[in-house]
Amino acid sequence: MPPILSSIIRDEVEHIEGASNAQLSAIDGIAKEFDLTVEKLREIIKYFCNEMDKGLEKTGMNVAMIPSFVTGAPTGKEVGTFLALDLGGTNLRVCEFTFEGEGVVKSKQHKYRITEAQRTGSGRQLFDFIADCVDKFLAEFVTDYSENTKIFKMGFTFSFPVEQTAINKGTLIKWTKGFTCSDSENKDVVFMLQEALNRKGVPAVVSALVNDTVGTLLSHSYKDPKTFIGIIYGTGTNGAYYENISKIKKLNKIPDASGKMIINVEWGAFDSEKKIIPITMFDNKLDRESNNPHSQIFEKMISGMYLGEIARNIILHLIDRRLLFDGYSSKDLNRNYSFETEYMSVIEADGSHTLDDTKKVLEESLNIPSTTLTDRQIVKRVCQIVGLRAARLSSTTLAAVIIHCGVVECGVSVGIDGTLFELYPHFSARLETALRELFGTNFDKVKISLARDGSGVGAALAAMLATE
Ligand code: ADP
Ligand code: MG
Repeated sequence: MPPILSSIIRDEVEHIEGASNAQLSAIDGIAKEFDLTVEKLREIIKYFCNEMDKGLEKTGMNVAMIPSFVTGAPTGKEVGTFLALDLGGTNLRVCEFTFEGEGVVKSKQHKYRITEAQRTGSGRQLFDFIADCVDKFLAEFVTDYSENTKIFKMGFTFSFPVEQTAINKGTLIKWTKGFTCSDSENKDVVFMLQEALNRKGVPAVVSALVNDTVGTLLSHSYKDPKTFIGIIYGTGTNGAYYENISKIKKLNKIPDASGKMIINVEWGAFDSEKKIIPITMFDNKLDRESNNPHSQIFEKMISGMYLGEIARNIILHLIDRRLLFDGYSSKDLNRNYSFETEYMSVIEADGSHTLDDTKKVLEESLNIPSTTLTDRQIVKRVCQIVGLRAARLSSTTLAAVIIHCGVVECGVSVGIDGTLFELYPHFSARLETALRELFGTNFDKVKISLARDGSGVGAALAAMLATE
């Protein structure tokens, strides 16, 4: 038997065949650094609840708690046709939704990939590209577009931190998830998009701006009235929930103090001071080399953009200590972000005795000349360690929102979108295990479901609520 790695992953790990004591103790040490006991999760939750209070009180706080200005909730009776744009980080989705009442929605949509050049060029180039995609989408997918004289109402899901001042106004606070477009921070993103649409002559008016979490929350509410939180585990991570307006102390003009407003938490920025979440040298390396050091620390430990890079940092460390691949890396593996989170999914899902899919990833995709079964088992263990911490850490902000609002007793539904949640093996099971440890039997009152692509429908719903 290998030494006990960590109380938490004990049940999941398999025997590493033929490993030396040096290999086992190195892995054991790393597993301990990534371990999050339930006591630690509780400490993090307590700290985060306090951060939420600070964000509700003042603008510019680390956990920004951004008012969305969405105060209504959909009833399911809405009718009409709306466009939606969803800029998530990896793709741009353009959609048309037709609401037919009785909760029925028909949709057309198309995804356009965002290139590195678009992520790092000028803001004007990015928004011109978006306007081009809308134009192409309308021409290709919307019948009678060319003869049509109507002006489309559009909801815009923009998944970056925005300081919103109205449902259709919001300035970009800062880019995240690898975006660095110039001339766009501190500017109104609705204005920039509308200008680009006008330049291109696209007949669309941007009537609502929402974060993807807000969109996910709205679309899930449309299906399930008990929905309280909308969450993203995709390129990045974030959440939104219904807050009592009377508690949003920083609002200047209070619309109706008795009602509720959706708050976009911006929890990706949590613990950017590195005070409460145990941080490892592998996280610090990633942070230092990232294009936004000292920010989005919580997101960097959890989301799809970063998990592969954390795992790569551990793998390189083991190679440098001659504990893996006989001390040899490859050109590909040496390149930043070459070990994709998607590879971790393949490796974690690899149930074959000889880890054949893992071999393919390492030897064919990453060009490691040859690997032993022990090497592959170690790599799988590394993925488990990183993936498990991500899922357990994810439970903290989710639980904190529920605890902060004292809603668990009445039952809450949580709608979650994002490829990581949808496709990463065991992510949802590990998250649920952590929540059960935290809530005990009350966990039965928390209903978690996948809300696939909810952010698009949500933006269209927001456009409808805004123009009602
Ligand atoms: P966005 O957050 O941009 O809206 P997604 O929800 O699709 O987009 O998430 C994209 C992220 O998911 C990328 O960072 C990518 O690394 C990650 N990803 C893609 N495929 C997989 C997979 N099979 N398993 C885990 N993560 C994946
Ligand atoms: Mg998305």
